[in-house]
Amino acid sequence: MSASVKYIFVTGGVTSSLGKGIISASLAKLLQARGYSVTIQKLDPYINVDPGTLNPYEHGECFVTDDGAETDLDLGHYERFLNIPTSQANNVTTGRIYQTVIEKERRGDFLGKTVQVIPHITDEIKDRIRALGKTGKYEIVITEIGGTVGDIESLPYIEAIRQLKWELGKDSLSIHLTLIPYLSTTGELKTKPTQHSVKLMLEYGVQPDVLVCRSEHKINKELKNKIALFCNVESRAVIEAIDASTIYEVPLLMKNEQLDRVVLDKLGLDASREANLEGWQNFLSILKTSTTEVRIGLVGKYVELKDSYKSIAESFVHAGVINCCKVKLEWIHSETITEENVASKLNGLAGVLVAPGFGNRGIEGKINAIKFARENKIPFLGICLGMQCAVIEFARNVMGLKGAHSTEMNPDTPHPVIDLLEEQKKITNKGGTMRLGAYPCKVMEGTKIFDTYTTSEISERHRHRFEFNNEYLRDFERAGMIASGINPNAGLVEIVELKNHPWFVAVQFHPEYKSTVEKPHPLFVNFVKAAVSVSSLVQ
Ligand code: GLN
Repeated sequence: MSASVKYIFVTGGVTSSLGKGIISASLAKLLQARGYSVTIQKLDPYINVDPGTLNPYEHGECFVTDDGAETDLDLGHYERFLNIPTSQANNVTTGRIYQTVIEKERRGDFLGKTVQVIPHITDEIKDRIRALGKTGKYEIVITEIGGTVGDIESLPYIEAIRQLKWELGKDSLSIHLTLIPYLSTTGELKTKPTQHSVKLMLEYGVQPDVLVCRSEHKINKELKNKIALFCNVESRAVIEAIDASTIYEVPLLMKNEQLDRVVLDKLGLDASREANLEGWQNFLSILKTSTTEVRIGLVGKYVELKDSYKSIAESFVHAGVINCCKVKLEWIHSETITEENVASKLNGLAGVLVAPGFGNRGIEGKINAIKFARENKIPFLGICLGMQCAVIEFARNVMGLKGAHSTEMNPDTPHPVIDLLEEQKKITNKGGTMRLGAYPCKVMEGTKIFDTYTTSEISERHRHRFEFNNEYLRDFERAGMIASGINPNAGLVEIVELKNHPWFVAVQFHPEYKSTVEKPHPLFVNFVKAAVSVSSLVQ
């Protein structure tokens, strides 16, 4: 390992949604493929202490790490690209920074000093950036700054970068991601917004070392030279990031543009080892060439914003490649599914997934979808709330427990088949208080889920307050829904499956958080496999 850890800062300018997360993950992938140990961190400038309290409509999915951090969805991309777990330290918000500084102030740590944005907030930001370097696990730490340069709330972060660049010298590098818009009326790519964005960075005291330019069209040498001239960067450090057909192509596009080589040169790191991307390339070529399509319905209540189910959608991409097919997701709004229209809504689907969620909205639609999948022997995967709905559906329609429900939706249900976890009963605060992160689960041999995992000891990530009510367990098993996975310490039911169904599995945890390009999740792989065999029967 080299003597000093190298720090790369990634900022964005001109507009939001330029894909800083994917560019950061792609660069990290290339550096990893050259043998470097890399991690990526996201700093988010909003005041929520973490995104766990945010409605998915606000910010997309909340990603959960092994150590139980509720984080930004970009961490999901980092894990899917790098195949190494992230942790609490990989996502920090302004809320958490201020919370820490204020706690220190209350303890008296500042010895009577006036506590200010500079240096106290910026020091805390710098500590959070260096914390990952100090673990000794990484040679390179990439820090992505959320938001857009010029936002008031991003300012302390840019200032922290300015200070760190000064302190770290050659061990640091700043990458600025900008937009090169195309004016169709004149048929030209325009560099002015990029020039202005870099000027803003300079005003804050940060000279970007590398510019990654998002564009719908190719950026020729002449244009790169022009951008270089106006922005004080080398021409080879002006990197074209053209729109890609899939995010998994971006590392290869960045490799063609030599982003990794430029970065290594500037950091004084050895660039002689070529990146080994064989596995990645194979994955991508199957992804781009498979023609068999399998249609799976994703039933949820946030389907208008697809980012709400980011990890689920990506898990299907990974599982599709292993099965040499393309999973075509049909996004179905749970609120629109009724007993009358369920057959037409789910018509022809090779599989149905009922998604995680909170609260009553759309619950009956989810239950209708599950009943249809159960009765028509369509492969089914329920995740978290999806599992709870499968239990409720079975209780009502197979066991005859009229009005069975989760106490989350109906506290007065006569049959609380899903109930609040014991440990949750005293909790009133909403932030970071669910059953979160990785817990072990023991898988019963001779079950579908054992065939799936091929091992009896697994660990999966959780995010919930409610749970299968064990008082009903024997009745469920007698009726044909078995608990095939149990938490060995608490006895909580983590997995249920149906005996008389080709593939009906529902899990209390979130397998989607652990699927990566290198290691597609076995649950998704086997679910898609079951769906493929159904769709071949249909054809
Ligand atoms: N609302 C349910 C619970 O809290 C399910 C949560 C989820 O789907 N993530 O238990």
